[in-house]
Amino acid sequence: MNIQTIGIVGAGQMGRGIAQVCAASGLSVILNDIDDEAVRRGLTGVEAGLGRMVSKGTIPESQASSIRARVSGSVDVRKLATCELVIEAATERLQTKQDILKALDGVVRPDAIIATNTSSVSVTKLGAMLSCAGRFVGLHFFNPVPIMELVEVIRGLQTTDATFDAVAGFVKRIGKTPIDVKNSPGFVVNRIVVPMINEAIFVLQEGLAGAEQIDACVKLGANHPIGPLALADLIGLDTTLAIMDVLCRDFNDPKYRPAPLLREMVDAGYLGRKSGRGFYVYSDARA
Ligand code: NAD
Repeated sequence: MNIQTIGIVGAGQMGRGIAQVCAASGLSVILNDIDDEAVRRGLTGVEAGLGRMVSKGTIPESQASSIRARVSGSVDVRKLATCELVIEAATERLQTKQDILKALDGVVRPDAIIATNTSSVSVTKLGAMLSCAGRFVGLHFFNPVPIMELVEVIRGLQTTDATFDAVAGFVKRIGKTPIDVKNSPGFVVNRIVVPMINEAIFVLQEGLAGAEQIDACVKLGANHPIGPLALADLIGLDTTLAIMDVLCRDFNDPKYRPAPLLREMVDAGYLGRKSGRGFYVYSDARA
């Protein structure tokens, strides 16, 4: 399949990053979200990402404008009917994703591939929403998408080899590295990293050290480029909690229980960078 037009459902931090990277590789992108304001924020986010590349001298302004021109937005999911590949990148909530997939099933062209950027939910379970589950696959990008090289490619039980090969080729084409990962809660990276973040939140909650000290310990003592609490703020505390909930429920193992402080912060609306406050306070929160 010759993939030329990508639909992205969910114009949040991941959707806009995926849009930017696809458009920079010459693909046309349609960014979809629940309302005009959310779509506008997504397009503004793409614009801001390209602006950063121009100011760093990575690309000239002329290239940024042609990339920008390849990204359009729409609240109408029917606009995705022309796309060869649609990537679901909406909120990490099972029901939300299932509803989106049901809607896409009635809209996409018969040969289109549908992918999910879920961080933790079973690709097999999501694929069961579709009449064409063979053409459904997990494409797990990492945040920030323009910088992070890995894309975990996850086969559901129903995913065909042709679908897998087509999306692995697409991932390479946009300059990322695909790694074949089995369908299992949290896949590989989040199975390892998110429980570490959760443990850091327990450490904070128990008062062993402050947030900055905990992050400094892990950066200086384990040579991580970013501390676990700053990473949680980058991922989004709602997404971090949703991943822990899936790990805990699907493995049925209490070792994955979310830290009560994490749940309380999400209840308070402290979602990290995207809301302006998490374990740290941010002045550059997205609108
Ligand atoms: P986000 O909160 O920044 O954005 C989610 C977007 O989805 C919002 O704009 C919201 O309005 C939109 N949305 C919700 N319901 C929708 C619907 N029915 N139709 C269209 N849009 C809808 O979240 P995010 O960080 O971009 O995460 C999105 C997905 O990517 C999640 O599945 C998450 O687990 C996954 N993911 C996140 C990260 C990360 O580090 N944040 C990394 C990899 C994967």
